[in-house]
Amino acid sequence: MTKTADHDSAETRLARLILALRSQGVVDAAVLNAIETTPRQAFTPDLFKERAFEDSALPIACGQTISQPFIVGLMTQALKVDKRDRVLEIGTGSGYQTTILSKVARLVYTVERYRTLMRDAEVLFKALGLTNVITRFGDGGEGWAKQAPFDRIMVTAAAPDEPKALLAQLKPNGILVAPIGKGPVQSLKRYTGDGKGGFEVEALTDVRFVPLLDGVAKEL
Ligand code: SAH
Repeated sequence: MTKTADHDSAETRLARLILALRSQGVVDAAVLNAIETTPRQAFTPDLFKERAFEDSALPIACGQTISQPFIVGLMTQALKVDKRDRVLEIGTGSGYQTTILSKVARLVYTVERYRTLMRDAEVLFKALGLTNVITRFGDGGEGWAKQAPFDRIMVTAAAPDEPKALLAQLKPNGILVAPIGKGPVQSLKRYTGDGKGGFEVEALTDVRFVPLLDGVAKEL
């Protein structure tokens, strides 16, 4: 009898996912290692734990989503993070992308507008023993002025247009990666500082993210 995917161990499923990401162009060793050592099932709700190693986005609390592993890999690789970097992430969500970033960066500052998601993620960061993640409940559209400037910024919710407030909190040679667009499909863009206050802008691929919303969520 042949084994179906359902009966494969977590290790086998993870190995298969890593191979799939590699074949789609996520080849940075540090990024792949971060994904390989992060238990994605810890970030998915009970109902979806079986699907944690599928390469798909899944629902989490508050009507939000945990990003697709391929997109997490692609965005982390595109950000060209150095081990000495301080990184700002907007949209903590499940905390999965935050955890991946924490393994390739020196410090990760992450902002979330849902109190529940922020608290759940904080519990996970503690359980996983992450000591370089700093969290804040708030509106990430404004960035984190007190901690700026950052070497790298990643936005994991779709900004309607160029995120000027965030670009202003980037170091002159810094990099910001964000989905940009108002519709259901956005363009994943990379802004690379030219050291003189300007940016080189590249469109990397089409993506589907939940929108970056104004203010903090009124519901929990
Ligand atoms: N990186 C996350 C993806 C979460 S989805 C993961 O891997 O799970 C995007 C998240 O951005 C949602 O949790 C949403 O609440 C949050 N978000 C949207 N607008 C925001 C804002 N202005 N400030 C902070 N977080 C925001």
